[in-house]
Amino acid sequence: MNKIYSMKCVAQNYAWGKQGQESLVAKLWSLNNNKEITNNKEPFAEFWMGDHPNGPSKIMDSNSKEIEFEEWIEKNKEKTGEEILEFNESRNNPKNQLPFLFKVLSINKTLSIQAHPDRELAQKLHKNYPDIYKDPNHKPELAIAISGLEAIMGFKPLQQINQNIQKFSYLQNVIDGNAANQFSTVINDPNSDENQKSQVLKLVFSSLLNCSDEIIKNQLENMKKEIESKIEKGIEISDEEKLAIKLNTQFPNDSGAFLAFFMNHLFLQKGECVFIKENICHAYISGDIIECMARSDNVVRAGLTPKFQDKKTLIEMLDYSPSQNSKIQKPKQIDSFVSSFEPSFEEFIVHQISVPKNQLYSYRQNQNLSILLVLFGSANISLSEKIDSNHDLSFFKIKQGDVFLIPAKTQINFQTEQESITCYSVTLGNKREKI
Ligand SMILES: [Zn+2]
Repeated sequence: MNKIYSMKCVAQNYAWGKQGQESLVAKLWSLNNNKEITNNKEPFAEFWMGDHPNGPSKIMDSNSKEIEFEEWIEKNKEKTGEEILEFNESRNNPKNQLPFLFKVLSINKTLSIQAHPDRELAQKLHKNYPDIYKDPNHKPELAIAISGLEAIMGFKPLQQINQNIQKFSYLQNVIDGNAANQFSTVINDPNSDENQKSQVLKLVFSSLLNCSDEIIKNQLENMKKEIESKIEKGIEISDEEKLAIKLNTQFPNDSGAFLAFFMNHLFLQKGECVFIKENICHAYISGDIIECMARSDNVVRAGLTPKFQDKKTLIEMLDYSPSQNSKIQKPKQIDSFVSSFEPSFEEFIVHQISVPKNQLYSYRQNQNLSILLVLFGSANISLSEKIDSNHDLSFFKIKQGDVFLIPAKTQINFQTEQESITCYSVTLGNKREKI
């Protein structure tokens, strides 16, 4: 008889998280750990499901004893799945670890301007600064909007950036004049190639990030005055100006507010997703999301944060090419109840399983172990290979906040009653890299 294992998962109380009862993360954590939220002002930012040392989940064995992932995989090679073991071997990873890290985020306030290094840079940063960059691994991410997601991501088309610089004196004052001239000349020259365009964008961006605190402070004041006076006069302000004011209110005196004029402003509707490749500049602004990433916690930050910033590394690592833009995508529908989020890298694949009420549904077996989160609702499930709801007495109830480690090749049969259920399942991806 197959068996699934309950997981006890941790929350991260970063300052940008939604607070107390407002936070979906707090709700999931409270249900998952059977603990009350006592302080309604406490931020609950992230709910972590996985084995990363910065917030490892515990697995409950049959005697309700807590065991670590590493130990579980060591004892349950068959239930882990061959491909996960092969994956770790091919990457020279420790044998008993998960390739992915799975999270829920409840965002109240903008997260830092950030990017995640590729594998080569991650190895270098980890070697030189192991206390800051704890993982030698890359960290491509997938964000799926649960309610909705507002974010800034990737650079705007260069002509739009140029128009903004020409239009607003406060931008001209925070960017070196030579850099701005070169930028304008190169992007308006029909003979310029992509490489030259990337170079001048980097020049302008680094000039903004390296501008002195004093000048930034003064120019943010100028920006505020100019926008406020427009509002007073009844002149309509642009989305960029609105965003700049919002970022400036959240993080006064931070040059990050000016990025509203340089980066794309995205709104994801419920169920839409975005894949964030390595070296892409981004910041989430608000919303609740499912997030999945390669197993790493490496973040290079350069603004809109009280945390450690590493502007030099960020400027050097970013992708400035026109192809860097992340597109909002929809998942692939697998059948009536399952949709699939499939990145171009192999570390993970995410399924959303939504079963309406009063329905029997059999979820296909994954070839390797997976993690299943019940995000909303409840259902009875059984693990038998053949389903016969009239005779099968092995159904048991799962509900919001439950997280399970599902062994390889386990079939899950959902039987919903008066309530529907929405689950997310993560397992190793099927896009094997050609080496
Ligand atoms: Zn990120």
